[in-house]
Amino acid sequence: MEYDVVIVGASVSGCTAAILYGRAGLRVALLEKHRSINTHKRLCGHFLLGGAQAPLQRLGLWDELLAAGAGTGDVSIRTEYGWTDPSRAGVPPFLNVRRVTLDPILRGRAADTGGVDLLLGRTVTGLLTEGRRVTGVRARLLDGTEETHTGRLIVGADGYRSKVAALADVPERFTPNGRAFFYTYYRNVRHTLPTPAAVWWNDRDWVVLGPTDGGLIEVAVMPAKDTLPPVLTDHAGYIERYVASLPDAPDLARAERVAKVVIAPDYPLIRRHPTPAPGLALIGDAALTADPTPAPGCTWALLSGQWLADATAPALLAGDDSAAALRRYRRDHRAIEREHTFMRGDAEVPPSNRVQRLLQEAAVHDPEVSRRLALVGMQAAPTTSLLNPALAVRALLVRHRGRRRFTGRAGYAPR
Ligand SMILES: Cc1cc2nc3c(=O)[nH]c(=O)nc-3n(C[C@H](O)[C@H](O)[C@H](O)COP(=O)(O)OP(=O)(O)OC[C@H]3O[C@@H](n4cnc5c(N)ncnc54)[C@H](O)[C@@H]3O)c2cc1C
Repeated sequence: MEYDVVIVGASVSGCTAAILYGRAGLRVALLEKHRSINTHKRLCGHFLLGGAQAPLQRLGLWDELLAAGAGTGDVSIRTEYGWTDPSRAGVPPFLNVRRVTLDPILRGRAADTGGVDLLLGRTVTGLLTEGRRVTGVRARLLDGTEETHTGRLIVGADGYRSKVAALADVPERFTPNGRAFFYTYYRNVRHTLPTPAAVWWNDRDWVVLGPTDGGLIEVAVMPAKDTLPPVLTDHAGYIERYVASLPDAPDLARAERVAKVVIAPDYPLIRRHPTPAPGLALIGDAALTADPTPAPGCTWALLSGQWLADATAPALLAGDDSAAALRRYRRDHRAIEREHTFMRGDAEVPPSNRVQRLLQEAAVHDPEVSRRLALVGMQAAPTTSLLNPALAVRALLVRHRGRRRFTGRAGYAPR
């Protein structure tokens, strides 16, 4: 069947793009290999950074996700220098919602959008081309039969192992990840943190605690792999011992663990060209697979889906060639490509560098430095905003002049 846009993958990025194309008045085929609208991604820590708030509000999903029980609020950050100042003016809140809740809501919203055909149980196995231009997809149905769908724009939103990218021979750039990822869920966690969520930036390791839907607390431990014991079988014990060793540790010993530990021992960062051929675009993890540690994946999937739809919908509606529009998407996408470059360096788990240490120390005592760090952590400001001479001078002054005199108060500590 002939559509304006054919999207492969009905998850975060694909549903976002489909909803926005449908609202713009375009005809969209949204193909998903799973047969149920309620399928959800299993390997995902689902901590959505503050940068996700605006796209979720635009999709009309923010309030619905809160009503479904998502956790939200501010995040406290602990470095070796102490807790950073809690001022968070202008920092958008996190939203933490399990994929079992998020994915059906997102997919349902896409299916209900006029112009969008959600085609479940279709595994894309081939691309149709005219010369270099990608013009459609071939999909296998559950009964083994095949169908084809053509469109003026084909979108790969099919995740980090993107079949669409493989079929189009798109080169991939891999960066190994030096951290492993462990997470699970608890009930009745006692803690004295002043915010609902907290991050311990513990030398080269990260630990995140955050409330999520179902009244649960998610705990994720992301250690440098070279610090892991050679044999590790008791993963819950590992998480609980690690958390107990943290300053101001939440009490997991008296909490109830309600799920198995999910482990991602090896999750590389991948980068592909987001507009690799005429008529073809990649969004979400298919274009950039992020390090799960700082958790920007879903936020970038929302943003890239939105950028693609905004850049190309007017040209598609006007019947114009989409080449110039795809160039605009490429330009917008560079914002997260730059973040990915910083992230690739950090995925090698080096010790904090001098600038990071200076900012971490100043952030304990100075609200503005703390706020700037939080904005970047929430993907609401670029990392380059921290490479600012004025900020460095401010941080040096905080260190040099003495903390009390500069801020009028001592560093923050949890109750
Ligand atoms: C261990 C781990 C922890 C993470 N934690 C976080 C976190 O805390 N916060 C965060 O924001 N992100 C996190 N992420 C990243 C996040 O899961 C992804 O960035 C996000 O799901 C990407 O969305 P997407 O729509 O691009 O792709 P995906 O969610 O991967 O969806 C791809 C879709 O395409 C479909 N598909 C694939 N191939 C085909 C085909 N051939 N035909 C038809 N359909 C197909 C799939 O079934 C799927 O529905 C984590 C990832 C991992 C691995």
